[in-house]
Amino acid sequence: MTHKIKPILATVLPCYNEEEVLEKTYTELDNYYKELIQNGIIDEKSIIFFVDDGSSDATWSLIKQFSQESKHIKGLKLSRNQGHQIALLAGMQAVYGRCDCMVSIDADLQQDYRAIEKMLNRYKEGYEIVLGIRNDRESDNFFKRFTAESYYKLMHLMGVDIEFNHADYRLLSNRALGYFLEFQERNLFIRGVVKLIGLPTAKVYFDVKEREAGESKYTIKKMLAFAWEGITSFSVIPLKLITIVGFLIFIFSIGAGLDVLYTVFFTNDAIPGWASTVLPMYFMGGIELLALGVIGEYIGKIYTEVKRRPHYFIEEEIL
Ligand code: UDP
Ligand code: MG
Repeated sequence: MTHKIKPILATVLPCYNEEEVLEKTYTELDNYYKELIQNGIIDEKSIIFFVDDGSSDATWSLIKQFSQESKHIKGLKLSRNQGHQIALLAGMQAVYGRCDCMVSIDADLQQDYRAIEKMLNRYKEGYEIVLGIRNDRESDNFFKRFTAESYYKLMHLMGVDIEFNHADYRLLSNRALGYFLEFQERNLFIRGVVKLIGLPTAKVYFDVKEREAGESKYTIKKMLAFAWEGITSFSVIPLKLITIVGFLIFIFSIGAGLDVLYTVFFTNDAIPGWASTVLPMYFMGGIELLALGVIGEYIGKIYTEVKRRPHYFIEEEIL
């Protein structure tokens, strides 16, 4: 099955305190849209959808201003900061049914937006999902590159199927988007969920630039929370590890117990041991707390899932 030659495209950009880059992002993307429309690549009803993730700066007033200058600009403002994944979800929900396909991209346009055309080509060939894969990580500092790459390896070890060097830059057909929105989970790790959809998937390679203005909105705390979300939402291996560690310790303690009996009955150097009493206490205490902690993390997730709280509230909308 092939798709429309001239689809209505919706590009969704989550923005958190992006007043410094937004003007440039808007100008570049709006011009790019004009170019794509002129060349008959997308329909003129295509939209650029900004999601203001509860910013405290001028982000929302800029978006409103852009929407008066260009008919392609639409957007919404969340009532408070919910994080990148939820902001993206809000945008995806808003454009669903209003477009033939959607692309998500960061508001700082670090990802080369010109790859959108390549994504559209694959879409037109009939692909429902097109993943943007970054060519290299040269624009990242050592820390970001190292943590990102170790993370992919860790995810792999945990049995989670994610695409190497693919972030949230991707195209989804309206059908794939609809399937995506059927996932009701509160703890959201979008790239993992997209993998679960199936449907014909293609890849497109693109370059990453350095952020041109403003700072990264992913603080270390947000990054760690995101990484942990990815593992605990898609893998139960941490729970299995507890069982394995517990089993190994059990075997070890039987061995140690036999050794103690042997020392008591068959040798004369049974020292009333401090170490043999106190060390295992610390050891077991540590392991038990670790195990409880991991179980607690999963129970915490169950807790947030069963509450079924709304992901976000929309404060204002430009439709
Ligand atoms: N972002 C968001 N809410 C947040 C944090 C980030 O919507 O709480 C957006 C941000 O505005 C940007 C995208 O998520 O469009 C990626 O963030 P950023 O570029 O700061 O991350 P980095 O590229 O440094 O990983
Ligand atoms: Mg960025």
